[in-house]
Amino acid sequence: MQTHFTAAQLENPQVAESERILRACVHCGFCTATCPTYLLTGDELDGPRGRIYLAKDMLEKNRPADATTVKHLDRCLTCLSCMTTCPSGVHYMHLVDHARQHIERTYRRPLSDRLMRSMLAFVLPHTSRFRMALKLARFARPARALFPKRMRALLDAANDAGVRATALAGTDTGGDTLNAAAGASPACAGHRSASEIDGGTVPWPARRIRRVALLPGCVQPALRPEINAATERLLARLGVEVIVAPGTGCCGALVHHLGREHDSSAQAKADIDAWTSEIEGRGLDAIIVTASGCGTMIKDYGFMFRTDAEYAPKAARVSALARDISEVLAEIEIAGEPPAAGLRVAYHSACSLQHGQKLHGVAPRLLREVGFTVLDVPEGHICCGSAGTYSMLQPEMSGQLRDRKARNIESVKPDVIATGNIGCITQIAQATGIPIVHTVELLDWATGGPAPLRFQRPPASSLTSS
Ligand code: SF4
Ligand code: SF4
Repeated sequence: MQTHFTAAQLENPQVAESERILRACVHCGFCTATCPTYLLTGDELDGPRGRIYLAKDMLEKNRPADATTVKHLDRCLTCLSCMTTCPSGVHYMHLVDHARQHIERTYRRPLSDRLMRSMLAFVLPHTSRFRMALKLARFARPARALFPKRMRALLDAANDAGVRATALAGTDTGGDTLNAAAGASPACAGHRSASEIDGGTVPWPARRIRRVALLPGCVQPALRPEINAATERLLARLGVEVIVAPGTGCCGALVHHLGREHDSSAQAKADIDAWTSEIEGRGLDAIIVTASGCGTMIKDYGFMFRTDAEYAPKAARVSALARDISEVLAEIEIAGEPPAAGLRVAYHSACSLQHGQKLHGVAPRLLREVGFTVLDVPEGHICCGSAGTYSMLQPEMSGQLRDRKARNIESVKPDVIATGNIGCITQIAQATGIPIVHTVELLDWATGGPAPLRFQRPPASSLTSS
């Protein structure tokens, strides 16, 4: 694609990078066919090629963003399916990041939009604020009809999380029953969750093969603390020392996708500083991430800070150590028995894992190795519509994609759904009654841990037979 940036514009490294990306695009349109939003609207501007043209025009003319550009870029899920499809290696993610930052700097959104985005940026990256917001949202639920449509989606999600949390608290006995039915190891009783304790370290066996830091995350510990707990148990069983570096929390992705460069940079720097202390102290073999959206972000820190003299080397080192939990487990031999014979697992490949980190196939292979029957889901490359804050900012398109995903999953008749990203878990859970868990919960279970707590009722074909 021809570009017409001036020499003065190209002195800005971000503009120069965007120009390089734009020039790689040969406008073939292959990417359009695999774009979820184009699939829904059939509008060229709701596909990657159309968005690339919009971004190019805005950045090249260095003009303030207009309503059309904002509308179509806001509708982008950043699922990165287009990057998997593109034969020319166009780095759409870095281009859209730049365009969103430009929009944030030059476009004045309607008041309701500004309030919503500010509220999300204030609450979501902070676990304690998010927990409080969940409680308030449950109180507000009876007055749901009085809220604007986008707020209703938020209330529904909060209510769903709240109901599940309450059910979870009330079904410890049920969980024990399931654990007993599944022959779970009692060795995990009283296990401490390092993710709940800043700087905590989980007990690990004498045989220690690695030392890793676990990203505690922001939303996940409030919605599903059992995910990091299962990770710690499983890794400890395999001889991996797991620590949570004091000062780590949100990776910055939620605000990054809102175009809030300053906030995302501050959150990323806090994590980088905390992990750097560990790397230079007792050392780290890896930084483990259990939410693949966060993993994609941390692996990009090196690029984000490439022009920052102080942070560039530290960020590059952190990115090089970042691993999705499935990557680390694939490097370590794990052996297990299917705790519930014949359990049929539909694996939902999160976009951030398959398109962002190119790790499609790793987690299903691990699940098969420990004895689960893994089912491929039709349209597996299409996003479930979660995409960070997207489900709250674009509830209609998000809802359509969620329902489409749920129908595709249900078509293979699984007992349980497994995936590697908290956003996908909460999104899909709203549209199906089939239990949905993180992959690591099943792997933990298969190797001696308790049954996933989210099996609030036994999957139809299996648990009762074990
Ligand atoms: S597939 Fe790649 S080269 Fe073709 S239009 Fe899309 S981004 Fe451009
Ligand atoms: S990131 Fe996803 S939604 Fe956005 S243009 Fe690419 S394929 Fe479409």
